[in-house]
Amino acid sequence: MKPTYDVAVIGGGLIGCACAYYLSKSGAQVVVLERGQINQGASGQNAGSLHFQLEQRLIQNIEMDVRELEFHVGLAKLAITHWRSIGAELKTDVGLSMHGGLMVSESPVETELLERKLQIERSQGLMVEMLDGREARKLAPFLSDNIHAALHCPDEGHSNPRLLTPAFVARATELGVHFITGARVSAVQRANQQWQVTFEADTNTGNRKQIHCENVLNTAGAWAVNLHIPLYPVGLTMNVTEKTAPLMPFLIQHVARKLSLKQTEDGNLLIGGGWGARLQQRSGSWSSNASPHFKLESVRGNLRAAVDVVPAVESLRLLRTWTGTTAITPDLLPVLGEVPQAPGFFVASGGSGFTYGPTYAALMTELILTGTSSYPLDPFSPARFSSLNSFMGQN
Ligand SMILES: Cc1cc2nc3c(=O)[nH]c(=O)nc-3n(C[C@H](O)[C@H](O)[C@H](O)COP(=O)(O)OP(=O)(O)OC[C@H]3O[C@@H](n4cnc5c(N)ncnc54)[C@H](O)[C@@H]3O)c2cc1C
Repeated sequence: MKPTYDVAVIGGGLIGCACAYYLSKSGAQVVVLERGQINQGASGQNAGSLHFQLEQRLIQNIEMDVRELEFHVGLAKLAITHWRSIGAELKTDVGLSMHGGLMVSESPVETELLERKLQIERSQGLMVEMLDGREARKLAPFLSDNIHAALHCPDEGHSNPRLLTPAFVARATELGVHFITGARVSAVQRANQQWQVTFEADTNTGNRKQIHCENVLNTAGAWAVNLHIPLYPVGLTMNVTEKTAPLMPFLIQHVARKLSLKQTEDGNLLIGGGWGARLQQRSGSWSSNASPHFKLESVRGNLRAAVDVVPAVESLRLLRTWTGTTAITPDLLPVLGEVPQAPGFFVASGGSGFTYGPTYAALMTELILTGTSSYPLDPFSPARFSSLNSFMGQN
């Protein structure tokens, strides 16, 4: 029997929906299986920051990881070109603002880290410029007198997480992609040289359905056909203040503290940067489905960092705090590629997936349909975790 689909995508977040769009645009027959609603996960809960500079979490082992970091900068350059054309590609407004970003330091030691980062970014052709504290405050008068230096990347910015995934879905639907919601995938098996994907079509009755496909693309996180792909759910915290007059056109980050800060078009300040939230346990394991519980110390720490960098934040009232769950790998890099032990089974997850989602999707499409990609994905391949499968067995 001929398989019904060229690709079955598991997970209706940004990465899954963007992959479905690009695959379908290239002529593939695609189905997306989502256990709940489209965009219900990290893709609809995130801060919407476009991080093209190497982020604080990535440069903690800067001396050890130079090659990977250089590779990541190459991906950032590609992502900038994708974002510059996203309005035209999707034919709609996704709340995109690319007015630049500043990554700040507060001490000479932190400035050295910025300089080391600058060398890596410049060596790969990313546009970044070092400003001393005075120059940074001239460009961004809202910055605190504590700011010692800042790295300016003119392409950084933000977009609206509630608009981006639905825009991909709208275009993919026009191209004929089938989206099936309320469809929790429970098994993926190889039989007769094709994949058989089983999903619960009705969670109340446990009624199950199956589809057959040439390839499976898992964008649902920590989950892969009896194989060990180390993707872990982590809870993160976001804060939003009341509206204020236009204050900052830039995305603000810190080189050594967890902070991302920006102003929305409506005037609210969004404050995040990777502060933790407590995952809920369900049936003895961490749940990636239930909203994590917020931690007061995360909210306090996040707001403290924001006020230290932009003192005007102190006079604003906090409107709301929310949490979300994202997937990370042990090396904090994304996992993108075919699983060597399971030909035709692909994984795309991890990293700053809002910034890089459209780029992962374009590259994964090339990889699935042609066996190669225009930007090599080897450093991000699931093959780097193959030793886990030989050690633990494929169960
Ligand atoms: C609070 C927060 C702030 C963040 N801020 C930023 C930021 O500013 N910039 C940035 O670049 N990144 C940010 N991120 C990370 C970014 O949101 C994620 O990397 C990205 O959204 C991941 O997209 P995804 O499609 O892989 O995952 P998701 O959006 O989580 O989608 C996965 C989907 O799979 C579905 N699913 C799971 N299991 C199954 C199953 N068995 N069957 C069917 N479907 C299933 C889920 O329901 C979900 O809809 C943030 C994340 C969080 C949580």
